Amino acid sequence: MTLGIDWTTDWIRRSAAVVSEHRGELITLDREIGDGDHGENLDRGFTAVLAKLDDLPADASPGDALKLVATTLISTVGGASGPLLGTAYLKAAGAVGQEKELDGAALVALLTAARDGVVLRGKAEPGDKTMIDAWTPAVDAAAAAVADGKDEVAVLEAAAAAAEQGAEATEPLVARKGRASYLGDRAIGHRDPGAQSSSLLLRAAADAAAG
Ligand code: ADP
Ligand code: MG
Ligand code: MG
Repeated sequence: MTLGIDWTTDWIRRSAAVVSEHRGELITLDREIGDGDHGENLDRGFTAVLAKLDDLPADASPGDALKLVATTLISTVGGASGPLLGTAYLKAAGAVGQEKELDGAALVALLTAARDGVVLRGKAEPGDKTMIDAWTPAVDAAAAAVADGKDEVAVLEAAAAAAEQGAEATEPLVARKGRASYLGDRAIGHRDPGAQSSSLLLRAAADAAAG
């Protein structure tokens, strides 16, 4: 079973739903080590994405849908996370091109390109207490699942579980990028909001695949 446009649009709808559902939690996390707007930023962005999703042509590819997310997040989300996630979705769209059906290897290419897009834009390294700390273990787990011969659902499940662990693992870290880096040791004990939201987005991808 491969994943096509129906999975992609379901992922996007579930992303919007989960961001809206966790808006307050993301605001609280960002209030602790940032400026308290992360939940609002992402909710505004994904609400705008939802409004445009029905305009996608019937023969749209997964890449077309990812590109719509990218351009909408870049134009509607103020704050660091808009351009960072926007670049992630733009690079992910480029990685899958006009392929209509994505197998495990294509999903790994998509996730890798997304992570690389965030790094290209924000120059964070693993352990800097950013959204990279959710994306990088997700990419590694997805690649390992493909190497083990797992199907697409299992690949995305592995990515989501690794992202959740990665987000939790930001709690003891000192931040070296973004607003939280101004806090020094005071960021210790708090989860990075961007890592948490990225883990929610990856869980939405797995849930959409599981059906
Ligand atoms: P802002 O900090 O501008 O208010 P948001 O609150 O929406 O933007 O997003 C903050 C999140 O962005 C952080 O929790 C972190 O995960 C992520 N972030 C910030 N700077 C970087 C960076 N250079 N690289 C990767 N992620 C970053
Ligand atoms: Mg913020
Ligand atoms: Mg802000």
